[in-house]
Amino acid sequence: MIVLMSEQIDSQTYVEVAIIGAGPAGAAAAIHAARAGFDTLLIDSATFPREKTCGDGLTPRAMHQLDELGLKVNASYRNRGLKLHGYGGDITAPWPKTYPSQVGTALPRYRFDALLVDAAVDAGATLITGTPATDPMLEGNRVTSFRVGEATVHATWVIVADGVRSTFGKKLGRTWHREEVYGIAARSYASSAHADEPWMHSHVELKDEDGEVQPGYG
Ligand SMILES: Cc1cc2nc3c(=O)[nH]c(=O)nc-3n(C[C@H](O)[C@H](O)[C@H](O)COP(=O)(O)OP(=O)(O)OC[C@H]3O[C@@H](n4cnc5c(N)ncnc54)[C@H](O)[C@@H]3O)c2cc1C
Repeated sequence: MIVLMSEQIDSQTYVEVAIIGAGPAGAAAAIHAARAGFDTLLIDSATFPREKTCGDGLTPRAMHQLDELGLKVNASYRNRGLKLHGYGGDITAPWPKTYPSQVGTALPRYRFDALLVDAAVDAGATLITGTPATDPMLEGNRVTSFRVGEATVHATWVIVADGVRSTFGKKLGRTWHREEVYGIAARSYASSAHADEPWMHSHVELKDEDGEVQPGYG
């Protein structure tokens, strides 16, 4: 895989498709764009593999998208849906019959995101990591160029896929909807007696050390 640093691209770089953010959204967009024959540049401020706080669950909808991309993930584990626990009850919720395979899996984002980024590069996208995209320049409401380190990137199309914090998107007017529900997440890996079962367990009743129910899920 060829990964460039921002100082390795021309100070004035011209591409057809520039994608900011190489998480699942940006990397999948890069795979599609590169396979469709577009000159594609994928940029991420992090270097891969990198972590992302997440439950790591891949639903049948995600599996379907991966099938469409021709990517196989974690073939040794498949689940059939959710088992929800809390407030004196347990519910088994099989995945809906929306997609033919009706199976999900789980894969640490450290591996999953790197797998997608590798596939984007294999498809022909150029990857720049370790430097954020900044300073969008607009013509009307269209982003025509932006900075990556010392370089200026000019693109016919710019896809902003920079995640929930969206540092680039904020420059374009994206705002935090403070009046809506938001949360703080912590993630850790632990061993579980349920690890080999074909169900994802979700515990929706979380209590603190005093037995008080707290918002959130595990
Ligand atoms: C606690 C928690 C649990 C979750 N559990 C699940 C789950 O089990 N299953 C599920 O499907 N979803 C889950 N999600 C949601 C899932 O994590 C997100 O929907 C998903 O990561 C969004 O992907 P993305 O590609 O849009 O953004 P991200 O994965 O956040 O990727 C954005 C990328 O953009 C890069 N970036 C940001 N700014 C710039 C910039 N200016 N220049 C260059 N690069 C930049 C970042 O480094 C990052 O790599 C969970 C989320 C949380 C918080």
